[in-house]
Amino acid sequence: MLYISTRGHADRKRFCEILLEGLAPDGGLYLPERYPQVDEATLTAWRGLSYAELAFEVLSLYVDDIPAADLKAICARTYTEEVFGSWEIVPLRALENGLYLEALSNGPTLAFKDMAMQLLGNLFEYELARRGEELNILGATSGDTGSAAEYAMRGKKGVRVFMTSPNGRMSPFQQAQMFSLQDDNIHNIAVEGVFDDCQDIVKAVSNDLAFKRQYKIGTVNSINWARLMAQVVYYFAGYFQATSSNSEKVSFTVPSGNFGNVCAGHVARSMGLPIDKLVVATNENDVLDEFFRTGVYRVRGSADTHETSSPSMDISKASNFERFVFDLLGRDGDKTRALFHDQLASQGRFDLSADPAFQMAAQRYGFVSGKSIHADRLATIKDTFQRFGSMIDTHTADGLKVAREQLQAGVPMIVLETALPIKFAETIVEALGQAPTRPAKFEGIEALPKRVKVLPADVALIKRYIAENVH
Ligand SMILES: *Cc1c(COP(=O)(O)O)cnc(C)c1O
Repeated sequence: MLYISTRGHADRKRFCEILLEGLAPDGGLYLPERYPQVDEATLTAWRGLSYAELAFEVLSLYVDDIPAADLKAICARTYTEEVFGSWEIVPLRALENGLYLEALSNGPTLAFKDMAMQLLGNLFEYELARRGEELNILGATSGDTGSAAEYAMRGKKGVRVFMTSPNGRMSPFQQAQMFSLQDDNIHNIAVEGVFDDCQDIVKAVSNDLAFKRQYKIGTVNSINWARLMAQVVYYFAGYFQATSSNSEKVSFTVPSGNFGNVCAGHVARSMGLPIDKLVVATNENDVLDEFFRTGVYRVRGSADTHETSSPSMDISKASNFERFVFDLLGRDGDKTRALFHDQLASQGRFDLSADPAFQMAAQRYGFVSGKSIHADRLATIKDTFQRFGSMIDTHTADGLKVAREQLQAGVPMIVLETALPIKFAETIVEALGQAPTRPAKFEGIEALPKRVKVLPADVALIKRYIAENVH
């Protein structure tokens, strides 16, 4: 399998070459040159597999430069009951008739990003050892992504993490999750500033090419193909749990931000998994809902980007969206480049409403969308708790609200549960008048010793800190 850029660059690369890279050289995103097709017989064979075995089968279609035995061992090490809390790894639970939640958030940081990041940690360690190289991951986080990266990379050989976060601005629970890690290769840097300062620092360091090369600086952002590929697996796993034969279709609703999660659903559907609809659920930051309703993709400025009670979906643009648009436009790299490079840069928007391709988003690719706001979230959390005794988080609530608007008789609807309520306790209290339950392994973490370096928002000082801690 070779990988191509969404902007038409002539390079063709193999999986392990793009594993440690970010964007393609032309600024595009990597995609496989074709989607491998999974036929009826294969689906039947896969139905009985454990999650780790299923992951190996799916990944094998995309990875041909890691020996099969090694890839199998990596999957077996990653998707364990010990790490994800159940042998199913992503168990379904039923709500009313035909509606299910698929639990993707029982990993180490209680959010679905663990599903991909845990695999990435093991893939990075494997590939770096094979090359005899090291990598220093530099990132900025306001919560979820940083902790998922740290829990994936902790203790891994050849990898260090330098994670900046705005000092004192994460919730006590999030701070405790990250700062209680005592692993030598994990470095928490609390920057005296806001999240944007952290992002600016990461950008400035990455733009210093000499420093970047000398200290082997890399990232783990959401546009990494390996993360998307890992997410394809749980669409298959959800499908097998909700159906008893391959003649049945299901739909998925996905709480969306950067379009990574639902893009994995698009890949699964393109491989032949019998998915009817892919429902994109957004919060007040409705960039994606607007596109699927109108054909207009309009990037928001920071004044137009709302801070909501489902903060992991607070995006101004959707960084993985280009992958889907590339497919929608018949994989025309020139056209994709014109939209994402030229038009977005000059006008901050593009409009496909008059392009026949836009109709295909719904007709051929099954995409529909909806939006949920704070009041919907509260009502959905309360209703789900009262009727089913099930406590859900704010992002999952956005998904569930939108899923109910798209239900179709006879087609099971699976809503992806992207985080556990304990991570967003304040809103749960607002909705239910009671605090969320806390998994036993997180009892008392706020009292654990913290390992964090507080530094001013100063690029030179952060660079010096990195240099001192790379040896
Ligand atoms: C990251 C995240 C999302 C959004 O996922 P995308 O892949 O960016 O669309 C939704 N919910 C939670 C809890 C998240 O952490």
